[in-house]
Amino acid sequence: MDDLPPTVPSTDTAELRERRDRLFALASSATGFMPEDEGESLYLAALRAGASVGNATFVEIGAWCGKSTVYIGAAAEETGAVLFSLDHHHGSEENQAGWEHHDGTLVDPATGRIDTLPHWRRTIVDADLESCVVGIVGDSPTVSSRWSTPLAFCFIDGGHGEEPAWADFRGWAPRVVEGGWLAIHDVFANPDDGGRPPYDIWLAALASGEFVEDGECGSLRILRRL
Ligand code: SAH
Ligand code: MG
Repeated sequence: MDDLPPTVPSTDTAELRERRDRLFALASSATGFMPEDEGESLYLAALRAGASVGNATFVEIGAWCGKSTVYIGAAAEETGAVLFSLDHHHGSEENQAGWEHHDGTLVDPATGRIDTLPHWRRTIVDADLESCVVGIVGDSPTVSSRWSTPLAFCFIDGGHGEEPAWADFRGWAPRVVEGGWLAIHDVFANPDDGGRPPYDIWLAALASGEFVEDGECGSLRILRRL
């Protein structure tokens, strides 16, 4: 949190703070992969993006059960933005049976496949965020190839393998407007801490000369488009 300049909206009121605290508590208890401090940094970055332009559009790639969705959704609600939260909801490679991040309780007994969509929806309904959070159920490259709305904020946290991570970067980073924000999760400089692809796409964003570092928290990296 300390890495990002604090943003206190001019409309900051007790009511707003109460709402934010409730959403943060909900996000914290939701199933998923986002520590509280990183979630709050994500919220702050999205808040700045939402405040930077009217009727902002946000996209999240990789929603799982809605944990990060609530942090970004809180910023969308506060700034009048709309968050499109994209996931095919069948889990990444690393979420499948036998892998490190598998959770058998999320398997649909009818299909034998992971299905996080009911859990994601439940989180968004509990958070009362349906007016500003829209779920997109589908494959990220399929959606990005047809997407044309400029993004004030984009969060990449989809598949962490070589192919999905690069597809997300190539498909979504160009949609971020000049002055807009790109956030990438699970960026680990040390290979012992996690897989390479999110780190590699973060490096590629910087090497492109189109993005500059704009804060970090844990494995979350915030970039801003020049
Ligand atoms: N942001 C979440 C965690 C996301 S886990 C949180 O805060 O907890 C990564 C997600 O990416 C999984 O839900 C998986 O289904 C999704 N995913 C992986 N590859 C994808 C693809 N090609 N298209 C859409 N979603 C994908
Ligand atoms: Mg992640």
